[in-house]
Amino acid sequence: MITPLADRLAAVRARVDAAARAAGRDPRSITLLAVSKTFPAADVAALACLGQREFGENYAREGVDKIAALRPDWPGLEWHFIGPLQSNKTREVAAEFDWVHAIDRLKIAQRLSAQRPPQRAPLQVCIQVNVDAEASKSGVAPDDAAALAAAVAELPALRLRGLMCIPAPREGLAAQRGPFARLRELRDAIVRERGLALDTLSMGMSADLEAAILEGATIVRVGTALFGRRAAAAEDGR
Ligand SMILES: *Cc1c(COP(=O)(O)O)cnc(C)c1O
Repeated sequence: MITPLADRLAAVRARVDAAARAAGRDPRSITLLAVSKTFPAADVAALACLGQREFGENYAREGVDKIAALRPDWPGLEWHFIGPLQSNKTREVAAEFDWVHAIDRLKIAQRLSAQRPPQRAPLQVCIQVNVDAEASKSGVAPDDAAALAAAVAELPALRLRGLMCIPAPREGLAAQRGPFARLRELRDAIVRERGLALDTLSMGMSADLEAAILEGATIVRVGTALFGRRAAAAEDGR
């Protein structure tokens, strides 16, 4: 059965609200980021019609094309680049996006800052932390996150907002909470020790957003639960 987008959006919002209540948090303190990678601009427009404003993209070219296609009718959307970023893609990302979630080295942050158009507001950024220390995953090692955060916070056209992670998949709420708790504790330590104002934890996806919200997520990045399953060939095609 094909669930209409409106039903899926309502269901995901209900999950966010229920998890926020369980955590004793205001649901409005959690931003639902709709991850539209591999889905067409028409699907983004359909969600925008339902009131969704924040969208996440993983691939620079696809994201920039979608932003351009939607800008005439939907100038007020907020675009988050959430994928790994290569040096040769920083210019278009700096020009077109509002947020970048997966900063994992200073060189990329420096390029984004230098290439941010001066007429645009600072680019909002998060540092991706490899919380599970998986060899295959991008992200800075937890021990190196504070130094990178301090360096990124100095860059003039960026505004460092917090940390982001993509833990290895786990079954069950208790197991899922572990890595999210570690990211929150790392954020708290950086705030305490470096005096940085980090208000953002970008963590939680379709399968584990409840665990992330219980541990303090302020942005949950949800693709499959909103748009349906992505075609396997289109996934991780980078
Ligand atoms: C694809 C992706 C998501 C969304 O994942 P779902 O499991 O489909 O909700 C979230 N964050 C990042 C970084 C992604 O690449």
